[in-house]
Amino acid sequence: MKKIIILGSTGSIGKQTLEVINKDKNKFKILLLSTDKNINLISKQIKNFKVENVVVTNKKKYKILKKKFKKIKIFPDFKKIDKKLKVKADYAMSAISGIEGLRPTINIIKKTKRIAIANKESLICGWSFIQKELKKNKTEFIPVDSEHFSIWSVIKDYKKSDIEKVILTASGGPFLNKKIKKNVSPKDAISHPNWTMGKKISIDSATMMNKIFEIIEAKKIFNLELNKFEILIHPKSYIHAIVKLKNGLIKIIAHDTDMKIPISNSIYMGNNNKNFIKSKKIDINILNSLNLQKVRIKKYPVIKILNRITKKESLFDTILVAINDELVKLFLENKIKFLDISSKIWHLINLPLFSKFRHQKPKNLAQIEKLNEFVRLKTSSLSVISKQK
Ligand code: NDP
Ligand code: MG
Repeated sequence: MKKIIILGSTGSIGKQTLEVINKDKNKFKILLLSTDKNINLISKQIKNFKVENVVVTNKKKYKILKKKFKKIKIFPDFKKIDKKLKVKADYAMSAISGIEGLRPTINIIKKTKRIAIANKESLICGWSFIQKELKKNKTEFIPVDSEHFSIWSVIKDYKKSDIEKVILTASGGPFLNKKIKKNVSPKDAISHPNWTMGKKISIDSATMMNKIFEIIEAKKIFNLELNKFEILIHPKSYIHAIVKLKNGLIKIIAHDTDMKIPISNSIYMGNNNKNFIKSKKIDINILNSLNLQKVRIKKYPVIKILNRITKKESLFDTILVAINDELVKLFLENKIKFLDISSKIWHLINLPLFSKFRHQKPKNLAQIEKLNEFVRLKTSSLSVISKQK
């Protein structure tokens, strides 16, 4: 039986990971699941999968769940989780949203032979720490963001010097062919044309910040220079990445818009289990109308942030993630407008208060977490002040 851990099992990626596992339930044993506050759903997951250990990070909800399930272990956080779990897992999925996923991801690397990481904020802000922990524990890493899984599936068989160009595709989000009105509601911005995802990443798709993050993510995990990457709009999201090799080959990686494809591959890959996913037939209509387009800076002003990305890992990555996280939160709470997200990010990253961190290498996780809190507080107060003006 394969032993499984899922961080963020009540989220979009977490639920889809359990859907994949549910299809062949007898082959898996769930060691650990986690949620922030969705104890209704995790209660069902506990019963359905006979889970032994659960983390609930929201204090109130933790107390309620602890009273409800007396026979299993329920923890309020991920502290020393590696000591609390008695056995090592075969596979862990890291799918907590936001930078809060970083420490749990690092802690769980010790307790698993393979880790699939969806939580892009961890990869962006703490890749060097993740990488160190992967090496130390000989844990295999598979990226599951669809673009990164596609790129990885091609370039794992090549040397870095064989790669000429890597293109990441972007759907363009819900406003690709629409004028973005001043009073766009969170509901409008969340309704992604191709994917059903968590709220935060859906907003990032609408602004194109998601693609900026994905370039930083790809640059780090594949150890390639920034100028090797390009973004192209592809409204149907059938193609996820295009890799141009120096030998003249261009590899185009396509799959249905279903995250269960990268997820199930990350679970079953290398296990000689060829029939783990029943995908649809190749869609010739989509292939005949790929409609690849350059990104228009006027429509997606955040694209100019690409010029600000630092060559080496720096605290700038944490600043960018934190500013955007806070602005998206303010937008979801109707405290700022949709178009403010892009303009405020640009304004804020250029403030000396933040830009002074551009060439500082992160020293440890605590520094990243502290900086994240500081930047979020400042972003919130600065955004409210400028709104009152
Ligand atoms: P969701 O918002 O749907 O789920 C997030 C999960 O993390 C939930 O289980 C949530 O618990 C938990 N969580 C949230 N905040 C905290 C916290 N502070 N501490 C502990 N747990 C917390 O997100 P997604 O599944 O959409 O995304 C997860 C990650 O994967 C993100 O980093 C995203 O960028 C990335 N990703 C997602 C894709 C997708 O298709 N959804 C595609 C590619 C990458 P609760 O349910 O209680 O809120
Ligand atoms: Mg993606």
